[in-house]
Amino acid sequence: MALEKIELTGIPASPGITIGKAFLANKKKVKRPKYKISSEEVPHEVSRFYDAINYVIENLTSLKEKLNKEDRDIYKEELLILDMQILLLNDSMVAKRTVNTIKEKKINAEWALEISLNDVFEKFKQIEDEYIAERKDDIKLVFEKVFSKLSGEKYSKIENIKKPVILIGHDFSPSDTIKMNFSKIKGFVTEVGSKTSHTSIIARSMEIPAVVGVKNVTDIVNGGDDIILDGFKGVVIVNPDEETLKKYKEKKENYVIFLNNLMQNKELPALTKDGVKIEVYGNIEMPDEVVSVIEHGGEGIGLFRTEYLFLSNDKLPEVDEHYETYKKVAEKIYPSTLIIRTIDIGADKILKNYESDYNLNPAMGLRAVRFCFKYPEIFINQLKGILLAHKDFKNIKILFPMVSGLVEVEKLLEFINETKKELDYNENIDIGIMIEIPSSAIISDIVGKHVDFFSIGTNDLIQYTLAIDRLNDDVSYLYEPGHPAIVRLIKATIDGAKKNNIPVNVCGEMAGESIYVPVLLGLGIRRLSMNPVSIPQIKELIRNLDIRECKEIVKKVLTLEKSTLIKEFLYDTISKKVKNFEYYT
Ligand code: PEP
Ligand code: MG
Repeated sequence: MALEKIELTGIPASPGITIGKAFLANKKKVKRPKYKISSEEVPHEVSRFYDAINYVIENLTSLKEKLNKEDRDIYKEELLILDMQILLLNDSMVAKRTVNTIKEKKINAEWALEISLNDVFEKFKQIEDEYIAERKDDIKLVFEKVFSKLSGEKYSKIENIKKPVILIGHDFSPSDTIKMNFSKIKGFVTEVGSKTSHTSIIARSMEIPAVVGVKNVTDIVNGGDDIILDGFKGVVIVNPDEETLKKYKEKKENYVIFLNNLMQNKELPALTKDGVKIEVYGNIEMPDEVVSVIEHGGEGIGLFRTEYLFLSNDKLPEVDEHYETYKKVAEKIYPSTLIIRTIDIGADKILKNYESDYNLNPAMGLRAVRFCFKYPEIFINQLKGILLAHKDFKNIKILFPMVSGLVEVEKLLEFINETKKELDYNENIDIGIMIEIPSSAIISDIVGKHVDFFSIGTNDLIQYTLAIDRLNDDVSYLYEPGHPAIVRLIKATIDGAKKNNIPVNVCGEMAGESIYVPVLLGLGIRRLSMNPVSIPQIKELIRNLDIRECKEIVKKVLTLEKSTLIKEFLYDTISKKVKNFEYYT
């Protein structure tokens, strides 16, 4: 008899179709039986408990040794987590309590361990300390491994995967993913997570289809089950019938053709059907990524985030390190444009020993140019590096992040002038500001008088306009580039730029989200900068668009009152005009 077909849904986290066998890697909760034991059984139960603890410690220790041998620097964070987990297991607080409970109450190890963990967590409740609260989750996670060993429930080890599989699990942490051989992983399905969780980010960067947030998937799927994973729609089909299989095989083949076509056409210009040229640039965080931009058909660098220079070393970069880095990238992309954004430290990127970190609202605190005004010596070194590189390569432009108004613009221009004087360098360099705080979008006509271009940072513009912390998973569902307020602020920015006759780029994630590209073009944007892997598909999309139609789309969008309506309208309209729109992300 054929197995029952089950269709599950979750969040589409990485595009693509995958058909294959399930590999059940982990579950949220393992069984925790409760039973009484006799006095004679106590020593056996105590040793069963210690065996489980030691087993987990040994496992974690050997993983730690492996990572240490491979590359201590790359795995710095994972090694810290492992150290802490081993420390928790060796800590006698929980272990001693458990053994005493086994002896006193004459109950099995799982039951006793659960009682002692509950006691410990009860004590935690009285301590209102965030750090301690976080440790509670760490304790839970590591003791889950002990429960798993006690239960005897066996999961096949991720590191032993020999054949291609679709990985199913509650979730995958960095210490899981470092053990994976990605060439054998055809897809990811998890019970929890969002588009920005660790598994989703890894899946996208490895170009592996993934669906996350599929409730109870680890209870429903068995290892070895046949699975179809649709990373476009967020659908997982268990035990598919022949007809479904056929449909998805076709969809998958078409997608492969679609991708090949994209790569073949990546060098073609992004010219709309009515002949308007749109420049498609790449965003980079490391100098070497310039290669990826070129390989994906990018026509320039629209955003070089320079924070890595400050975060990768214990020592702050000197002028020559700045200069060498910028020169290297400018040379590689020459004569195309390189836009260097000055340090955007603060919020999620903290510089050791510099005050910017311990605030309740770091995103609204000492970040980006505000940080630079407080620590001018750090800023001036960077400006010197940029200007010296500009001396050699005139394709460099400067971009200042997080500007909220004219006072800051004036201060920034003053910094540039002073630094030029110090270097005795008078050449003109284009200066732009990021429009990522609503205030600067609203007064774009004012700030636009003093700069050469704008670049809209939609990631932060959305964060600050909709009041959603970019780093908080609980509110990430509110992230909506199609929110009417965002569309209006982008429009206001473009109107302000027009008054001053300066160009506007978009360099936030929205620039690479297909559904919103027609809106941006219809509003008047002519340069987009994005994650390099998105470049070929956005160029292809643009070649299928018509500016006159995009303007019509904008007219309609401006009348719609909710992001859901805007999204629906956009999908319906664009999918009718653009072939294979279902494959665009
Ligand atoms: C943005 O805010 O949209 C942006 C491009 O900058 P970052 O993501 O680095 O804050
Ligand atoms: Mg930003």
